[in-house]
Amino acid sequence: MVISVNIDKCTGCDRCKLACSYQLHRGFNPFFSNIEIEKEITGYPLKIYFRKSCRKAGCETPLCVDFCSEKAIHVVNQ
Ligand code: SF4
Ligand code: SF4
Repeated sequence: MVISVNIDKCTGCDRCKLACSYQLHRGFNPFFSNIEIEKEITGYPLKIYFRKSCRKAGCETPLCVDFCSEKAIHVVNQ
């Protein structure tokens, strides 16, 4: 599964990370997510970077996509 994040739409809410950690570990911890979105919280406007796409094989249900209210995440390749 390869995903892409449209950083122009992303608000940095971290819901995708929580959804992914639940998908993989049945817990809500952004540190156990396979998706990496970083925020630079000093200064305004908030700067957001998409560091790492998920490349996990076998993720049958990409909850990260479903839980992104901004529709910023898309599956590029399965
Ligand atoms: S859920 Fe969507 S808007 Fe929120 S951090 Fe993830 S990609 Fe960005
Ligand atoms: S595709 Fe699956 S494993 Fe990859 S970031 Fe999304 S929920 Fe996590």
